[in-house]
Amino acid sequence: MGSLGINVDQLKASLSKSAAVVTTESSAEEYQQSIKRWATNSEKPARIVIYPATVEDVSKAVLFGVASKLEVVTVGGRHSAAGTSSREGGICIDLGKMRNVTVDAEKKTATAQGGCRWIDVDSELAKFGLATVGGTVNDTGVGGLTLGGGYGWLTGTYGLVIDNLIEVEVVLVDGSVVKASEIENPDLFWGIRGAGINFGIVTSFTYQAYEQGPVWAGQLVFTKERIIPVFHIANHLLATSNGRSTMFTAFAAPPPAHQPVVLVVVFFNGSEEEGNDFFEPLISLGPLVNTTASMPYENVNTLVGQALEPGFRRLMKGSSTLHPLDPELAEELARDYEEFITRFPDANLTIVLFEYYPVMKIMDVPQTATAFANRGATVGLTFIPGWTKEEFDIPCRDWAREMSKKTKDYRLKSLEYTKVDENTQVCVGEYSNHDGLGDGPEVIYGLNYPRLVELKQRFDLENFFGNGRNSIIQKPR
Ligand SMILES: Cc1cc2nc3c(=O)[nH]c(=O)nc-3n(C[C@H](O)[C@H](O)[C@H](O)COP(=O)(O)OP(=O)(O)OC[C@H]3O[C@@H](n4cnc5c(N)ncnc54)[C@H](O)[C@@H]3O)c2cc1C
Repeated sequence: MGSLGINVDQLKASLSKSAAVVTTESSAEEYQQSIKRWATNSEKPARIVIYPATVEDVSKAVLFGVASKLEVVTVGGRHSAAGTSSREGGICIDLGKMRNVTVDAEKKTATAQGGCRWIDVDSELAKFGLATVGGTVNDTGVGGLTLGGGYGWLTGTYGLVIDNLIEVEVVLVDGSVVKASEIENPDLFWGIRGAGINFGIVTSFTYQAYEQGPVWAGQLVFTKERIIPVFHIANHLLATSNGRSTMFTAFAAPPPAHQPVVLVVVFFNGSEEEGNDFFEPLISLGPLVNTTASMPYENVNTLVGQALEPGFRRLMKGSSTLHPLDPELAEELARDYEEFITRFPDANLTIVLFEYYPVMKIMDVPQTATAFANRGATVGLTFIPGWTKEEFDIPCRDWAREMSKKTKDYRLKSLEYTKVDENTQVCVGEYSNHDGLGDGPEVIYGLNYPRLVELKQRFDLENFFGNGRNSIIQKPR
C-alpha cells in the first residue's frame, strides 16, 4: 500500500509491460502531461492515471477502479471541453497507448483502437486510397467523437460517424470484454451510437471506409460587412448540395489584429474545377483571403484546427436553427459576438461556428435507429469562448449559455410556424459532444432517453461510467 492508500504497485505489477501508471507521486513533468487537456480549464488533478496497453489491461483497470470506490473516467483524445475525461481526485483510464489502426483493404474497413486520434485513422486509410467519416480536426479522439455521433467532411455523402460504425469491442463494468454490432449485442450497439460514453470503455471501433481521391477545400475570409450575403449564399449552397459539398462559417477575430471577420471553410469532394464551380457565388463576393486548393483528403482535417488550437481556456456550447438560417439572426449574433469580445478582450479567441452539413444522409436513418437524436434539417451552431484568465470563466460561460438559449428559442419559435418533416420536428437540435454546459440527458437524448435508461440499468446499474452532465443517470455512483 503506498501513501495514496490504494495498492497501486499491485496494479502496476498486474498490467502488461507497455502499460504505465502515473500518480501524484510521479515526476512533476510526467504528472502534468498526464492531466493535460485540449481546454486548459478542463485539466483536473487526478489521483491516478492508468495507461493500459492491451484490452486485458483495460479490464484490470476497470476492476481496480470499481474496487477503489473512486470516481473513474475514460480518456480518449482529451478534447472534451466539458471536462468529462478529467476527474479531480479520481482515476483516469487513458487509452493513449492504444492507437493502432488495422485496415482490411478488401472489405474496405478500418479497425481503430480506442485511444486513436483521427490522424491515425486518416493516415492509415490514405495508404490504401480509402477514407471514412471522421472529425474535421484530426487531433480529436476517435473515442469521444464517435460515441457522441460524429460529424465530418464526408457526412454529406456517408452520414454520421456512427452511421458508418460496423462493430465495437467494449470492456464492461464487470471487466468482461464484449463485441457489439447489429448482430451481436444489438441493444448495446444501439446505445453506443450516440450515448456511448455511458456503457463501458470501447477498446476498438470498426468503420466502413470508401475509396477517396483528392478533395478541394480551404479558407475564405470576408469582412464583417459581408455577413448577410455570405449567409444567403450558404443557405443556397446547402439547399443545392448533393452531399459532396460542406461549408462552415464562423465569426472570429484572428491575430494579430483581433478584429471580427467572417471566416468560411469550404469543402468539395471532387476536383478543383468542380469546387470552384460550386462555390463560385461565394468566391465572387471577393474574400480578403482565399486559400482554397486541391489536396489529399487527410489534409482537409488540418484546416479548422488552426482556429482551435489547444492550450487555452475553452468551452463549447451547441445549439441550432432550422435550415435555411435567417441571415438577420446571423447578423444579430455577430453584433452580440463583437460586443462580447470588446467587453472581454481576453476572450478574443472566441469563435461562433455555423456548421452547414448536408443532412440528407443523416436523415435517411430514423431518429430511433440509434441513440443519437439530432437528425433534423438544421444548421448546427456552436459558441466557443476562448480566453486565458480564470477570472473570466463565469462571464464566458454565461455568454455561451445566453447565446445558445437565444438560438434555441429562435429555433423553437420557427418550429411553430414552419412546416417541417417529423424528424426535424422531434430532433433535439443539440449535439451531445458540443453540449459543454449540459442541458441534461432528457434534452440531449430526446425521444431515445427512456430506452437508454433501461439499457443503463442492464449494463451499468451502479452508474460507474456516468461522468458528466449528459450522463444518462445524473446521480454519482
Ligand atoms: C478542436 C475540436 C474539434 C472538434 N471537431 C469535431 C468534429 O469535426 N466533429 C464532431 O462530431 N465533433 C467535433 N468535436 C467535438 C468532439 O466530438 C468532442 O469534443 C469529443 O468529446 C472529443 O473526444 P475525445 O476522445 O478527443 O475527448 P476526451 O476528452 O478524451 O473524451 C470525451 C468523452 O468521451 C469518453 N471517451 C473517450 N474515448 C472513449 C472510449 N474509447 N470509450 C469510452 N468512452 C470514451 C470520455 O470518457 C469522455 O466522456 C471537436 C472538438 C474540438 C475540441
